[in-house]
Amino acid sequence: MSRKRPGRVRLGRILILLMIPLLLAGAVYGLLRRKPEKPPVVVTETAEEESGYITYAITLDEVHGIPVNHVYIPYDSSRRPGEIREIRFLTIHETDNRSSGADALAHSNWLIGDTTDITSWHYTVDDHSIYHNLPDNEIAWNAGDNRSRDGGNMNGIGIEMCVNVSGDFDQTVRNTAWLCAELLQAYGLTPDDVYLHRDFMGKICPHRLITENKVTWFKELVQADYDELQAAAAAEAPTETEE
Ligand SMILES: [Zn+2]
Repeated sequence: MSRKRPGRVRLGRILILLMIPLLLAGAVYGLLRRKPEKPPVVVTETAEEESGYITYAITLDEVHGIPVNHVYIPYDSSRRPGEIREIRFLTIHETDNRSSGADALAHSNWLIGDTTDITSWHYTVDDHSIYHNLPDNEIAWNAGDNRSRDGGNMNGIGIEMCVNVSGDFDQTVRNTAWLCAELLQAYGLTPDDVYLHRDFMGKICPHRLITENKVTWFKELVQADYDELQAAAAAEAPTETEE
């Protein structure tokens, strides 16, 4: 009969007894924490280096003199899955809300405050301001195509144009074109990467743009604004050093 190192056995028991309250405390802490402060970061597509698409987000202070207000939807909202994805194109919508007060601020307030809905998008544009409610590199629910691999929700930056009767719709379209041009340049995209919501599903959206035959005009504006930004960037680029 042999007694094997009783000292070490006792130490092991003490360590186990010490770990139990630590594990319990951890479990209780986990239960008490209501919502994570940051979302799980899930890259849904291939790595940026492989695809050439960008997964980081920029923030614009202003676009052609129009202020951009950044008011992000809280992480605990069902509107914000918080998943990082590649930025492949822009998706243009209209709010379909003609109420006189339905400007960009009003839609921003609705996105932030109403937790009964899951709809979400990145930017709302009216005739004098832009509201930015989600970082551009996060999924938003606006294209109606769920999680289609190459679809609008998973790859597009959702932009809503206001159609409130108190606003100047044509000016809203001009402002949206400038926003598109800035985003295309920032993310290495081109005017060919601007889509309408209609391109992803049967819905006639953006409704006024389509029914008032302004799609071609809008796309020409985007191209002209983009060309202007590209020319300005080329002029600012440092000249190559010659030796
Ligand atoms: Zn739409």
